[in-house]
Amino acid sequence: MSLATPTATWFNDDHRLYAHSVSRFFADHLVPNIERWNEEEMVERNFWHQAGEAGILGATIPQTHGGAGGSIAFDAITAYEQARCGDNGWGFGIQSIVIGYVQAYATEEQKTRWLPQLASGEMVAALAMTEPGTGSDLQAVTTSAIKDGNHYRINGSKTFITNGQSADLICLVAKTDKEQGARGVSLIMVETDGLEGFRRGRNLKKIGLKSQDTSELFFDNVKVPQTHLLGTEEGQGFYQLMKQLPWERLYIGITALGSMDCALEETTRYVQERKAFGQRVMDFQNTRFKLAEIKTKIEVTRSFINDSITRLEAGTLDAATASMAKWWGSQVQCEVIDECLQLHGGYGYMMEYPIARLYTDARVQKIYGGTNEIMKELIARSMDI
Ligand SMILES: Cc1cc2nc3c(=O)[nH]c(=O)nc-3n(C[C@H](O)[C@H](O)[C@H](O)COP(=O)(O)OP(=O)(O)OC[C@H]3O[C@@H](n4cnc5c(N)ncnc54)[C@H](O)[C@@H]3O)c2cc1C
Repeated sequence: MSLATPTATWFNDDHRLYAHSVSRFFADHLVPNIERWNEEEMVERNFWHQAGEAGILGATIPQTHGGAGGSIAFDAITAYEQARCGDNGWGFGIQSIVIGYVQAYATEEQKTRWLPQLASGEMVAALAMTEPGTGSDLQAVTTSAIKDGNHYRINGSKTFITNGQSADLICLVAKTDKEQGARGVSLIMVETDGLEGFRRGRNLKKIGLKSQDTSELFFDNVKVPQTHLLGTEEGQGFYQLMKQLPWERLYIGITALGSMDCALEETTRYVQERKAFGQRVMDFQNTRFKLAEIKTKIEVTRSFINDSITRLEAGTLDAATASMAKWWGSQVQCEVIDECLQLHGGYGYMMEYPIARLYTDARVQKIYGGTNEIMKELIARSMDI
């Protein structure tokens, strides 16, 4: 299976070659480790370096800054191939998103400082928006970054932060003006190495995405140079986030598609081998109908995702369409994987079968990146109703 539909105009020979090489890379370096990293609740650091060397992390970064100079479609392919091979834990999505922020808003000096290290895997990135007291309502963040000489003094805490245990560079959402709502929000790039007053909390216990380190982060009077404000102007953070969130949302839709392709392949294999009442489970009409329904749902999703990628490449992917890709993709993913698990019978409930991990990994897709309720709000607002 491929991310692209046969008629996708955005997909050319370079993309085909890239998809092939990424899929080989995951087969060699990720798939053999999925179970172990899920048990260890962390992806080995060396894997980030390997992905950097393979040109995966820097696919969209210009060659002048240590990357391959491709468009965002290359990250879309990586997202799909990772999910397609059965892994949802490695935090590449956040790396891609933060790279997007740096490319879109950073000064030349900032790009030179961070992009080469993000491309090589020397720096793992995190995006810290959510706080214990606020998630969906981003304007209500209370983490503050107050000017103090040439520095900001940062105070506050974040939670549920992907790559939180491993991050070397945190794109932090903070208030530079506490009196203001959205207009008081800025993005500050925090380098964690040896940073006084910065503390990582627990690697949180989750029902799925076990190999992904998801953490609390604490900032106690942390001093960060003012030159680490992303861009040149305070108060732009909310606007910067809103402009970039469509990629994060489409990203989730793409991984939903990859996971569904993986689940269908696993299930088709299983029902061909498993016997009940003297015949293959595959040969019950119910099974064939279920697989036909699943296949149809997947292909409808693939078409919409491809249309969204075409728009993304053209710079015309709007917030409402990206929200549709996110809620639809994640909703269908949960339905499809639930059906696939059902076709496995009791074995589907056992963690030694990949479908069980796909099932527990899927649930969060309806929650992070903006909950599906928030997605529907955004879609409804665009409908002029
Ligand atoms: C595994 C995982 C990884 C994550 N990674 C990151 C990360 O890297 N960085 C980061 O910043 N955050 C991350 N998050 C946080 C995630 O984005 C938030 O959990 C999510 O945005 C929801 O916020 P909340 O948990 O505070 O829920 P709340 O905002 O408290 O929502 C609770 C419920 O109320 C509903 N609700 C809220 N507002 C409305 C409304 N206006 N209309 C209708 N319903 C509403 C929600 O849909 C939800 O059902 C992660 C979360 C998880 C679980």
